[in-house]
Amino acid sequence: MATADQLATTVNALKSRLGDRVVGPEDPGWDEARRAWNLAVDQHPAAVARPESAEDVVAAVEVARRHGLRVAPQGTGHGAPPRASLERSVLVDTSRMNAVEIDPARRRARLEAGAQWQHVVPSAAEHGLAALSGTAPDVCSTGYALGGGVGWMVRRYGLACNSIRAAEVVTADGRQVRADTDSEPELFWALRGGGGSFGVVTALELELFPVRELYAGVLFWPQERAAEVLGAWHEWAGGVPDEMTSIGRLVNVPPLEEIPEPVRGRSFVMVEAAWLGDEAGGSEQLAALRELGPEMDTFAMIPPTGLGALHMDPPEPVPGAGDGVLLGDFPAEAIDAMVATAGPGTDSPLVSIEVRHLRGAAGRSDPAHGVRDALDASYALYAVGMAMNDAMKQTVVQRLDRLQAALAPWAAGSLLNFAERPLDPAVMFTDDAYRRLREVKSKYDSDNLIQANHEIPPAD
Ligand SMILES: Cc1cc2nc3c(=O)[nH]c(=O)nc-3n(C[C@H](O)[C@H](O)[C@H](O)COP(=O)(O)OP(=O)(O)OC[C@H]3O[C@@H](n4cnc5c(N)ncnc54)[C@H](O)[C@@H]3O)c2cc1C
Repeated sequence: MATADQLATTVNALKSRLGDRVVGPEDPGWDEARRAWNLAVDQHPAAVARPESAEDVVAAVEVARRHGLRVAPQGTGHGAPPRASLERSVLVDTSRMNAVEIDPARRRARLEAGAQWQHVVPSAAEHGLAALSGTAPDVCSTGYALGGGVGWMVRRYGLACNSIRAAEVVTADGRQVRADTDSEPELFWALRGGGGSFGVVTALELELFPVRELYAGVLFWPQERAAEVLGAWHEWAGGVPDEMTSIGRLVNVPPLEEIPEPVRGRSFVMVEAAWLGDEAGGSEQLAALRELGPEMDTFAMIPPTGLGALHMDPPEPVPGAGDGVLLGDFPAEAIDAMVATAGPGTDSPLVSIEVRHLRGAAGRSDPAHGVRDALDASYALYAVGMAMNDAMKQTVVQRLDRLQAALAPWAAGSLLNFAERPLDPAVMFTDDAYRRLREVKSKYDSDNLIQANHEIPPAD
């Protein structure tokens, strides 16, 4: 345990290199600086560095190393819940590094590590291009892409980690390197789905895709029809082309004033979907679901910038407790188990249970991919509830446990991005891939300086 004097010395050393881009526990603004997007996570790092350049990141890494502290990179704190204690870590908050450059001819985006999808998506859309963004505009592209990245085009264009074409990284020994297929190829492989254990990423180059518009929206039914609608969706999803990515979902909309009247305080079963094609083709695809007579239907042609509103993620930081698992399948028995555990009449504290359809490009292996090559699962389940205090959090966690137990017969592993509770990362990879990840960690960070939310330890 470092003494208060030792920590104060470290904060001063950081300030001598980074000036006011460092906040220590005694400084004004400390509580704001240490806050994660998920407000249920109470982070207590030794100091917070807010770099504005890769050189600032080098300085933070060098000082932390010299003073025996770890380095914990964070873009927003959407993925903060599973991270271990930060008491002996410098939190490197990359949010000030959010510049985005688009190269339309090469269909590439170069983004600084703190850029969120709301910075990337509009810039790409100006050129008729789209990145493999996720549902929430304020998730940081870097954390999302390092952890896999399941977005609205995942069945057509695959996981976002495999759209990374290069990463600029500050390694644990303070070097600035570029990782791509030619340079530091092992590091490049590990970054594409292995998470944040291997260095501090300062910028990414992502491939962009030619998408001007999609036919996308949400169908809503009263939640009492959950089993019928989800059963029909599962049957339908099994036959759709890769251009269709969809989510079957149970939502208990909180009774908050800022939520529009038609949905406020109500419980729904929904199908959200994005179709990479025109309205006529999308409508033809959706016909079987529309025959079920949805109460609301918001499908329309939208640009990629419209996708950020589709899933209705919270627009501001909130306190939440959630977790996710992959499912091999989601047949009628699984749907019944889910509905019996957290559907209508169960007094469920879960605000949302979503089941994302995978397969297509998400399931196709390619030797050019990184460690998260393909997902051997048909669906990704993620459930979440509000956690304004410990009692609420416990209630949510108990229901998450019950839900996961009910769905255990269909469990098919986990994905870094949706795993919000600490778990052995070995279960997320094949034995070979995990061994190789640990070797990469040893090569680039044998002292285990860099602290990810899901840590890959150096090889023994
Ligand atoms: C509302 C919401 C919606 C979501 N939607 C989706 C979705 O559609 N698809 C999906 O796949 N996931 C989704 N997620 C999960 C999300 O992708 C993960 O939580 C991801 O980790 C968030 O990245 P972040 O950088 O914003 O979070 P952070 O908590 O800041 O980072 C998460 C981890 O990423 C690593 N990391 C971040 N920045 C760096 C860096 N510069 N260098 C090295 N490592 C770094 C660190 O290990 C860090 O602990 C969602 C989560 C929430 C809460």
